[in-house]
Amino acid sequence: MSDLRQVGDCFTARGLLTPAAAAALVTEGLAAIQGTEVVTLDAAAGRILAEAVVAPRSLPPFDHSAVDGYALALRPSAEQADRFKVVGRVPAGRPMQSEVAPGNAVRIFTGAALPAGCDTVVMQEHAEVADGFVVPRRSYRAGDNIRLAGEDVAAGVTILPEGLLLDARHLALLAASGLSSVVVRRRLRIAVISTGTELRAPGEDLCEGAIYDSNRIMLLALLRHPAVDLVDGGIIADEGAAIVAAIDRAARSADLVVTSGGVSVGEEDLVRSSVEAAGGSLLALRIGMKPGKPLAFGRLGRAAILGLPGNPLAAMIGFLVVAKPLVSRLVGLSPTGLRIRSAVAGFDRDVTPGRMEFAPASIIRNPSPDRPVVDTLGRGGSARLLPLSMADGFCVIPADVQTVRQGDAVGFVPIGDLDLFR
Ligand code: AMP
Ligand code: MG
Repeated sequence: MSDLRQVGDCFTARGLLTPAAAAALVTEGLAAIQGTEVVTLDAAAGRILAEAVVAPRSLPPFDHSAVDGYALALRPSAEQADRFKVVGRVPAGRPMQSEVAPGNAVRIFTGAALPAGCDTVVMQEHAEVADGFVVPRRSYRAGDNIRLAGEDVAAGVTILPEGLLLDARHLALLAASGLSSVVVRRRLRIAVISTGTELRAPGEDLCEGAIYDSNRIMLLALLRHPAVDLVDGGIIADEGAAIVAAIDRAARSADLVVTSGGVSVGEEDLVRSSVEAAGGSLLALRIGMKPGKPLAFGRLGRAAILGLPGNPLAAMIGFLVVAKPLVSRLVGLSPTGLRIRSAVAGFDRDVTPGRMEFAPASIIRNPSPDRPVVDTLGRGGSARLLPLSMADGFCVIPADVQTVRQGDAVGFVPIGDLDLFR
């Protein structure tokens, strides 16, 4: 784990880490997990290629027609002939066995192999057929409407690089190349634990002073991905021994343990002391953002430990700013840093400067799509879930701003950026 001093110029005026510096701090020096497995293509979407893929064959595999029409066998050095005798018919998948003699033509369909002897294909819209002859109605040249073998992919070239996050496009290319499986990196194992004596699982009775655990299901949903193997670590009460046992157990099987709650400096905030009691180390990060200032990062055995704050919006912002780049790094993708878009304030607000503020916001007008006008939702509380659930994204107010007036430039992070590897 890196030392805080290495990112010395990354603090805000009040000695808080900037969000970008916090992301750099947790990702620096972390290696991607090792290990590969072979999966069939139907299980490969969202997995990460562990080896570059070399084309086993050319694409297309043979010269074929790009249209429905007539393949013509031209006479050597003849002028544009006016008619060709139709001597055969080749649908896709039923190649012609014999060569077509000069002056003859073949009815051909899209995807059908170009018969030997044919030089060009005339679209059916540009041809007339009468008495067994086809008459081209437009001028044509050799090679028209023909897709040549290997014009997309030449056999032997690298078609997909190692480390690629596979999506539908790549699977199509692999399938077209005749490959039925690929070597991918093993899944990153992430355990998610909620800490808090007050927490109950939905479905349980609530006694006085208790609330339902919303972070665990939220974080599990944010982290769910084909490249990730999730472990639900449940709810752990704020009791040192219980937290030590839970984090220790999780760290033995997971590559990353994500906890929520218990990371500020209150005396009930036991995550740090528990990780240390279990033999690990946890660094308290104070990040210049609101919400989500207290966050903890460290190691226990081979596992990385990320302690997010308990407040659900704070946990979500911590996920956005720190967990996403951390997970990307661990799976071997380049870290997806926070990308703050340009937006225009549709509200007035006085803010206490010093921390970058993230507020659930909706897009109220979209005069130009790359600069939406946004309004914050549900003022007065980072603990509120209803505004968050209705937001189009997060309005971002820079740390040095004291007043926001309608029309001012602000930042915006669309809700879709919560996608793990976006
Ligand atoms: P903490 O970070 O533990 O001090 O918690 C901050 C606030 O978030 C408190 O009001 C907690 O009750 C609340 N909180 C902590 N964990 C959760 C959770 N898993 N789900 C919902 N609220 C939580
Ligand atoms: Mg707590």
